[in-house]
Amino acid sequence: VEGNQAPSVAQKGVSDRIITATAAEGTVFIAAGITTDLVRETQERHQLGPIVSTIVGRLITGATLLGARLKDTERISLQIASEGPLRTVVADVVRTSPQGIGARAYSSIPDVELPVQTNGKSRIALAIGKGWLQVTRSYDVGQPYVGIVPLASGEIGDDIALYLLQSEQIPSVVTLGVMSTYENVVLSGGVIAQLLPGAAESAITMLNHHAHAMPPITQLIAEGATPEVLAQNFAGIYELRVLENYDVRFHCRCTREKVYLALMSLGRNELLKLITEQEKPEAVCEFCKMQYMLTREELQELIERLDHL
Ligand SMILES: [Zn+2]
Repeated sequence: VEGNQAPSVAQKGVSDRIITATAAEGTVFIAAGITTDLVRETQERHQLGPIVSTIVGRLITGATLLGARLKDTERISLQIASEGPLRTVVADVVRTSPQGIGARAYSSIPDVELPVQTNGKSRIALAIGKGWLQVTRSYDVGQPYVGIVPLASGEIGDDIALYLLQSEQIPSVVTLGVMSTYENVVLSGGVIAQLLPGAAESAITMLNHHAHAMPPITQLIAEGATPEVLAQNFAGIYELRVLENYDVRFHCRCTREKVYLALMSLGRNELLKLITEQEKPEAVCEFCKMQYMLTREELQELIERLDHL
């Protein structure tokens, strides 16, 4: 990739990839990646406006980076509950294969209108306002682990770092970036660095220093930076040791049976309404916008299933 090409050209054909690495004699863990195609697909599926696609893009990128540490069947879900115009944004991640990470996301509102004058505040923080970040880790067996923290800044990266520190006691530095035009997502990526047991106390100061001293992550990616280069920028003087490479793509777990269960949870009356009031009953997955066309017979069967519960 030529460094002097326009970002939109430079990123075409570059597929998403995340690497994991250690630095500082194995006491610092780093996940770094490019998520342009993932964020672009999410924006297109949900027809997100520019501010919301930046917010959703940062959240799904952060979730994807955390996903690099998931074991087999574990899942992680990040949810922002906002008091601002945005309301709810959810991103969740699973491992799709030993070297694959699958992510999906949605926003309760696809676009937000903000005043032209923002009085120096970031438009992203204004769209989110006050709120909480909830993180749910689900395992194959046992109860999920749920942690919730108030938003630190509403810029997503800092909020995830605060969650990791307060809820999981892991000092972390998180940088996430999405560059978009009014119409589409140009590029996206991020880095998460975490202290591992045995890390020097000064290491987190060092990592913070590197993160603030490096050029904006969107600029680095526009110039053609690979995940390795992003990670090395975070590692700074520390020597980087790459561990794993992961493919990343949009992946939804919805199935017809899950749609049935969601419809059944609406109750008998709502199902009857669907049968009598809808010409062509359908249900839409909120995560991927897949349309499930339903027959009256199918809906009738769901009512019978409810009656036999
Ligand atoms: Zn779906």
